[in-house]
Amino acid sequence: MMHVQQWEETCDVLVLGGGTAGCLISGVLARRLPKLKVTLVDSGTNYDADGLLDRVPQKPVTPGTRTFFRNTGAEFVPAPSEIGGSSLMHGGIALRGTRDDHDEWFRVAGEEWSPQDLASLFHRLESDTDEPAVGSPLHVAELTTLPAAYRAFHAYCARVFGAAADLNRPEAHGVGLVPSACTDGRIATTYRQHILPDPVPANLRLRAETVVDHVRLRGERVDRVAVRHLRTGRPSQLRADVVVLAAGALGTPEILLRSGIGAAAASEELGIPVALDLPAVGARLRDHSVLWSEATVTDTPAAPPWPWHAVLCRTSPTDEHLPDCSFELFHDFRLRTRQLWSRRVVISCTQLHDISPGRVRLEMSGTRLRTRIDGAVPRTLAAMEQYAEHVGALLKEEEFQGVGMRAPYPVPYPSSQGRNSAAGLLPKVRSAYHFHGTCPMGTDPGSAVVSPDLRVFGTGNLYVADASVLPVQFGANTHHVTRATALRAADALSSLFGYS
Ligand SMILES: Cc1cc2nc3c(=O)[nH]c(=O)nc-3n(C[C@H](O)[C@H](O)[C@H](O)COP(=O)(O)OP(=O)(O)OC[C@H]3O[C@@H](n4cnc5c(N)ncnc54)[C@H](O)[C@@H]3O)c2cc1C
Repeated sequence: MMHVQQWEETCDVLVLGGGTAGCLISGVLARRLPKLKVTLVDSGTNYDADGLLDRVPQKPVTPGTRTFFRNTGAEFVPAPSEIGGSSLMHGGIALRGTRDDHDEWFRVAGEEWSPQDLASLFHRLESDTDEPAVGSPLHVAELTTLPAAYRAFHAYCARVFGAAADLNRPEAHGVGLVPSACTDGRIATTYRQHILPDPVPANLRLRAETVVDHVRLRGERVDRVAVRHLRTGRPSQLRADVVVLAAGALGTPEILLRSGIGAAAASEELGIPVALDLPAVGARLRDHSVLWSEATVTDTPAAPPWPWHAVLCRTSPTDEHLPDCSFELFHDFRLRTRQLWSRRVVISCTQLHDISPGRVRLEMSGTRLRTRIDGAVPRTLAAMEQYAEHVGALLKEEEFQGVGMRAPYPVPYPSSQGRNSAAGLLPKVRSAYHFHGTCPMGTDPGSAVVSPDLRVFGTGNLYVADASVLPVQFGANTHHVTRATALRAADALSSLFGYS
């Protein structure tokens, strides 16, 4: 029998998952505390500072995929295969969320997460003045410099839904230009922003191509983390004073469940020794649902629309046309074909709150454990039906006359059950890839996984600090708020290790 050599590595802080949150936390900690030994582990195969949108078309894009299930069948999530995680995949949109989201968060998590605290975290992320490795100034385009299609969409939405001068005002409803987070004119990826700036901290070790299998709890402390090399399969053990899970809203619950941290009955049924009974692990997978149609434009942008531009209309929860949606226009981008189609725009509708959560769980497949992801789905399709009717007639509206937009692939979507019926639309409704909430923070271990200080209930040194901890169905794209949560975790861990 071949003997597999196991090696061990010890550090002060071990960050598991090098995506949006993991890169921020490890970079900030290592820079603030030069004597602290920080190790960042990620399954990513290599790393590149730029986000995918910034690379087009110069460099190849290499997303992997991950399967998950929604009620109409299997879907594929573009999964990052490089350190940087979803931070490399997103469009730079930096929205803070709505007042209702922040109030609900405060209600669930208490005074440590007040709307004022959140606002201060966002503010630090959006300015250059705080610390060099934290701020990424927000860029908002000038409407007059954007293609005619954007101006027409803006004018139409302003007439029908009203205008919002600043979409980051918590109570803002109506149409506005999307704030995007940029550094050096490129989309802010947390790898480029927090790991790379010269000099790369000598006390930060990157362990790429390393898959985390599980953590081992002894009493209240994680005493080992079991990992294996992505390609060779070689197993190893890592140890640290503090372990931070940042493997994302799909990866983090997966690791916890494999560690026996989850609903005790489910662990027992699968033959996994129960380490902690926390039924909320993976129990509520939150996301947004999106439906989109495409149109071609004759007025192409002179340069690629960087930083990523979009006109976004956040409709009010009581709007008679499109309640509680994000109605957007932006240039089409295809990860698969690696193309930015300068003549094609997308007009999309994202359902924000009226969503039934999905679930992340483990199941047996033959003799092996595998992860099953059931995606979140819209609770009702009423808003989507309204959108389909709306967008089908959009280009006939006065604002679009003479703009040169055509809709070769328009809604209404034909279906055997009837045009734009719920049954006809359902197969077209997709995930927005805004996964969150699978290890929510809260005060009750019956319904939450981490306490407001982001520590896993019942543990002394295990933290979660990524999109999984969001405790509410969040009404905006999730990259910016994930960075805010990670910054909060970095602050707390910095003080734990004596930084003031
Ligand atoms: C295609 C796509 C487009 C998006 N577009 C936008 C957008 O335009 N605007 C916006 O605001 N948000 C967008 N999002 C969502 C946003 O990017 C994410 O919500 C946010 O970045 C999540 O950050 P995270 O740190 O929680 O997870 P991630 O950034 O996903 O990081 C998790 C990391 O952990 C690693 N990992 C997972 N499991 C393991 C394991 N077992 N072992 C080792 N490593 C592991 C992964 O490889 C990854 O690097 C998009 C997401 C995707 C996927």
